[in-house]
Amino acid sequence: MNDLIIIGGGVAGMSASVYASRYKIDHLIFGETPGGQGMLAGTVENYPGYLSIPGPELMKKLIDQVKHYGVEVKQERIKGLAKIEGGFEVKTDKEKYQAKTLILAMGASYRHLNIPGEEKFVGKGVSYCSTCDAPLFKEKIVAVIGGGNAALSGAIHLASFAKKVLIIHRRDEYRAEPIRVEKLRQNEKIEEILSNEVLEIKGQEKVEGITLKNPYQSSQELKVDGVFVEVGQVPSSVLAGQIGVAVDEQGYVKVSPGMATNLAGVFAAGDIAAIQGGIYFRQFVTAAADGARAAAGVYQYLQGKAPTSSWGK
Ligand code: NAP
Repeated sequence: MNDLIIIGGGVAGMSASVYASRYKIDHLIFGETPGGQGMLAGTVENYPGYLSIPGPELMKKLIDQVKHYGVEVKQERIKGLAKIEGGFEVKTDKEKYQAKTLILAMGASYRHLNIPGEEKFVGKGVSYCSTCDAPLFKEKIVAVIGGGNAALSGAIHLASFAKKVLIIHRRDEYRAEPIRVEKLRQNEKIEEILSNEVLEIKGQEKVEGITLKNPYQSSQELKVDGVFVEVGQVPSSVLAGQIGVAVDEQGYVKVSPGMATNLAGVFAAGDIAAIQGGIYFRQFVTAAADGARAAAGVYQYLQGKAPTSSWGK
């Protein structure tokens, strides 16, 4: 039985692995896509130590750091988790593995709008990843939906390919960092449509237009070639439920400030975790810190020192 299994090969999982290696905790790390969502990030400008670095390059450095300690990110799909005597069993599409402790770092996936046309046109003009798909929209007109960091970064990135970018946000105030809002407003290719919503995505074979809730320039119908949905994320916490790990009303795994879940020996880190009493802040730097603290928690737990469960107490 291993001491630890880390589930998730994004920033949180890999940071946990680096710290676990330095604590000499015998562990495995699983990640279907090593680097996780970081591989899809554009230019990262707020990770300490780097003025600017492409997401995939930062992830490669982290993967190399994990490997430096002799650990490989196993690219196996996790099928299920179970409690067993003295620990946990992790079943993948290839094998079964056992460990005394777990760090859940499965992150989150893209939230959908669930409006007519969205599902129909995925890959035919509807995208959830501007970093991946922006080059497909050279000299086209695209709409970006959302008002957070992802939407604004996406709009700015798209503007270097598209002819025109419409950013559509349901409120009159963005959730994104002010520096990003400033950059957005300096870009002449970007038009802002605030306090408005997209009701439908239309087209024949591919996206041809959208219907707005309120008229923009006296029309509710706008012609666009692409729609980028950047409206946040939903936590990938289904596996957590299989062993009785508590989640909040949005599905995030509840953790103490030390990243302990309600279940002894199970910790969570990164986008999947909601620190009870903490603020909602999901960044590369917070994911890295979460991973480090979760690994420290595991170390203490294995020595019989950590509280078995401390959130909400
Ligand atoms: P987010 O911060 O949760 O923002 C989601 C946005 O989508 C909000 O503006 C929200 O509107 C809007 N929205 C949600 N549901 C909607 C719906 N049904 N219809 C219309 N609009 C809807 O999510 P995010 O921008 O994807 O970012 C996720 C996390 O990653 C955040 O913590 C973010 O800071 C982080 N991130 C960081 C960077 C970076 O470089 N630092 C880059 C990208 C993402 P309201 O504002 O009205 O709620």
